[in-house]
Amino acid sequence: MSYQQKRVITYCVITIFTIVLPFVTINGNHMLLLSFDKMQFHFAGFAFAMQELYLMPFLLMILFIGIFVITTIGGRIWCGWACPQTIFRVLFRDFIESKLFGLRKINNKQQQIDYSKYSNQLKKIGATLVFLLFALFISTNFMWYFVPPEDFLAYLQDPQEHIFMILFILGTTVFLFYTVVLTKEDFCTYFCPYSRVQSVLYDDNTKQVVYDTTRGGNIYHNGQKIVFSAKELEKSEECTLCDLCVKVCPTHIDIKKGLQVECINCLECVDACTSVMGKLQKPSLIQWGSTNSVLLKKKTTILSPKNIMYFASILACVVLLVVFANSKEYMLVNVNRTTDLFKIDDNNLVKNNYIFTVQNTQNQAYTYDIKVNHADFEITKFTPFRLEANQRVKKVISIESNKVLHLSNEKNTPISLEVTIFAQEDPTVVTTTKTIAFIYPKDSLLK
Ligand code: SF4
Ligand code: SF4
Repeated sequence: MSYQQKRVITYCVITIFTIVLPFVTINGNHMLLLSFDKMQFHFAGFAFAMQELYLMPFLLMILFIGIFVITTIGGRIWCGWACPQTIFRVLFRDFIESKLFGLRKINNKQQQIDYSKYSNQLKKIGATLVFLLFALFISTNFMWYFVPPEDFLAYLQDPQEHIFMILFILGTTVFLFYTVVLTKEDFCTYFCPYSRVQSVLYDDNTKQVVYDTTRGGNIYHNGQKIVFSAKELEKSEECTLCDLCVKVCPTHIDIKKGLQVECINCLECVDACTSVMGKLQKPSLIQWGSTNSVLLKKKTTILSPKNIMYFASILACVVLLVVFANSKEYMLVNVNRTTDLFKIDDNNLVKNNYIFTVQNTQNQAYTYDIKVNHADFEITKFTPFRLEANQRVKKVISIESNKVLHLSNEKNTPISLEVTIFAQEDPTVVTTTKTIAFIYPKDSLLK
């Protein structure tokens, strides 16, 4: 099976996975969702409130170190096998433009479309419209990672209320049109920051697309072409200079020149040379391998000191992530005082008011109750309230002294009170304690 066939299968699997993932839920939580609407982040079936995003730095560290280690080992494996830009370019250039509309030959990426023909202009418009439809669908799919499909359909019924969502989808569609149809592979070369940083991560063990000069011969010297025909090569040197590897290259480079920033690791040139050299019963002169394995004929290792450090860092981040994820709170509580400092009733009992914001971070509903852990104080006029899974509510709660305390003649006195919020259904598990300040007035203010 050629690399091209393997890549197309991989693209199909990735595309189907990406489309289906927003629909997959575990215990009502999504596999991956960043909902600004509900202020939640779902990951692998766990729901985190935005206030719990202290886990995010660990996920980002794992992501970035993971990118470093994957690049150091596999080079631009992402660009060739999984990047949406590459997938969409293959879809547009090779499938829609070449196969569906016959605008160019699939194995000649250097062929310019002849727009002097009216029929080609029409075909190009047709190809672009087909891609725009696909881009609109993919942009909608992308939106489902922020607005889950179940909410998305409901929001569509009321588009005026969700104009930002619609503009986001249209904006993403325009962006895809710009990058895939207009900037093409130039996006990878000039816009994508990843293509710029990755070459510094390479070493002799990194898997990349390598032309084997030891077999094929040096066609270039210091970037200048020095051999123009196979006759100029030594007898033992095998390159036929057919330049089929150049013809198929979507980024319009000649890999015989050596590693170049434009190379997106698509391996089309490897397939091309495999077919050429196959006819001569020889292996391809262009290999997907490391400098060590292809040019220096040495063994490639992934256990270089640099990679071992990367692996150790990822392991440390995963351990910290698991530890912090397991200390996830059963509920989130925030307490603020109201603008009144205190109130004194006719019996000299003092009352302070607070705004409690309580969020149920669990997957099931609970009825919440609150108590003050101090014999001289109690919560008044409060009825336990029910919160559905992940629901948040604000409650004004009064705490009152049940006797006259006479704490100071000169100034108001703050008293630290511990308050416990617990679920009636399961008070041992769902509980949290907050320390709040109760302001008790000076004696002169008492009646
Ligand atoms: S040189 Fe061109 S054809 Fe070969 S892998 Fe790189 S981008 Fe693809
Ligand atoms: S396809 Fe192979 S044989 Fe032909 S020019 Fe490229 S490297 Fe040489």
